Amino acid sequence: MIKKILILALVFATIISCKNKETEATSEVSENNSLSQILYYGGDIITMDGDIPQYVEAVIERDGKIIYAGDKANAVNNFAGKTVEVDLQGKTMLPSFIDPHSHFMSAVLMSTQVNVASPPMGDVTDIPSMIKKLEKFKEEKGIKDGEWIVGWGYDQDLLAEKRHITKMDLDKAFPNNKVLIVHISMHGGVLNSKALEWAEVDENYETPEGGVVARIEGTNEPAGLLMEMAYMPVFNKLPQPSEDEMMNLMKAAQMQYVSNGYTHAVEGFTHIKDMNTLKRAAKEGRFFIDIASLPGFNEMDKWLNNPEYPFGTYDNHLKFAGGKFTLDGSPQGLTAYMAEPYSVPGPNGEKNWVGNTSIPREELAKLAKTMVSNNVQIMFHANGDGAIEDAIYAIENAGIKAADDKRPIIIHSQFQKLEHLKKYVELGISPTYFTNHAFYWGDVHIRNVGLEKASFISPMKAANDLGIITSNHTDFNVTLLDPFFVMWTSMKRETRSGKILGGDQVIDAYAALQSLTTGPAYQFFEENRKGSIKKGLLADFVILDTNPLKVKDVDAIKDIKVVETIKEGKSVFKK
Ligand SMILES: [Zn+2]
Repeated sequence: MIKKILILALVFATIISCKNKETEATSEVSENNSLSQILYYGGDIITMDGDIPQYVEAVIERDGKIIYAGDKANAVNNFAGKTVEVDLQGKTMLPSFIDPHSHFMSAVLMSTQVNVASPPMGDVTDIPSMIKKLEKFKEEKGIKDGEWIVGWGYDQDLLAEKRHITKMDLDKAFPNNKVLIVHISMHGGVLNSKALEWAEVDENYETPEGGVVARIEGTNEPAGLLMEMAYMPVFNKLPQPSEDEMMNLMKAAQMQYVSNGYTHAVEGFTHIKDMNTLKRAAKEGRFFIDIASLPGFNEMDKWLNNPEYPFGTYDNHLKFAGGKFTLDGSPQGLTAYMAEPYSVPGPNGEKNWVGNTSIPREELAKLAKTMVSNNVQIMFHANGDGAIEDAIYAIENAGIKAADDKRPIIIHSQFQKLEHLKKYVELGISPTYFTNHAFYWGDVHIRNVGLEKASFISPMKAANDLGIITSNHTDFNVTLLDPFFVMWTSMKRETRSGKILGGDQVIDAYAALQSLTTGPAYQFFEENRKGSIKKGLLADFVILDTNPLKVKDVDAIKDIKVVETIKEGKSVFKK
């Protein structure tokens, strides 16, 4: 019997050596024989099961689930029916990554835009290379004259010219299209002449209060750049894709995740309109990865206890996972709510500036309690220690204790104090950290809050030492959806200028991987479903060109590449 199966396996191995035939063969097998499986072997297979690295020789998938993880010699005893063998050829396999916090709807919209950021976010180095990228995008997407071209992510400080782009830079290449280049801060953008005309911004346009309109020197003629209150109305007026168009963008949005090894994406603050869009996409079978949506507190009256929006279970890969509160802004924008004043004045020169909170403490506590009593998991965006204290207050007030296993999540938890972590343990709070900040804005934080406070940003080591389960996110599209960059920032904590921010908080590669697999699985109550490789869990895998646990130079972590991403046994991305 075994011999016959092995022969069959060999036949299949021969068939799948041709890339195109593999999917054909696999789908044919699953149609004809429910007892068909895939055997993975021949490389490092990290299970992420347990507190120290564990390897197995072989993994078998059947019907989207893991039916075996262990020695290769014993694996054959688990064969029944047909088996496709996949030789990893020395590559590394581990559970695919689980995004703890990002904004999936941004990925949907960004599928219609082009990345014109500089390294590490993108590859634009100067204005000519940006123009070239925009031209290529126009051609590839078949964008016609008169239509919009939107690019995102430019940072004037990272361009060789060290200046903002102007409409003159854009007009030469795009005389007949409306062009908008969104600034990396998302608080401004540069428009070309056609777009300025559309926005009705000309020499007679008065700069609104709290806004910035760049003008050509010595004239009143707009130069292209609009910021803050001058940019917002333009941004809000931009044509949005229709729901039908959105449906067609769902695949491209998911590809951004799977090409980075993620098979679970979070929609980090979902409006009712988008909840309906996601529901339609799920119903139409458009999701091939899991989407966890966090409906916003501000529309709670529309979704709480509404049978249209059941919480906590997947339906066609879509789950409404928890209620989301946004308590403050961002520390680099001086809008994170701090317990003590910033070292610098506020955005408008305010003294003793502590930032803003968006919900008064008592109101927050009331809303959180309502969600908890309706069995909705609560999740708080809190960056500053003031906002974190408000979240702790609301959790405590809702009567939650660690033993209740309610897993309230504090998203970002960036500028927290050591004493907060004791409360996290007591109340069972799990933080999802954001170590990418150390690189992107670490130097800004040192200036804004001082070196000592900045050094304790996203204290992963301190939290892990207390046994707190943590995760680490990109907040995409705030930073790049790249798990290896996330790993690197948590293992090195180096700022753009090369300073190490809180060297005592660096974690090792295994802990960094936990924060992308088992950590987020726990936070979404899915540790018995995904995040590690063991019998009974989903066959969600990522195959890497290098084993992150065997990389000696921390900087080389950034260079690891995803070779293949597998969701429930099906290959969803292949390099
Ligand atoms: Zn976010």
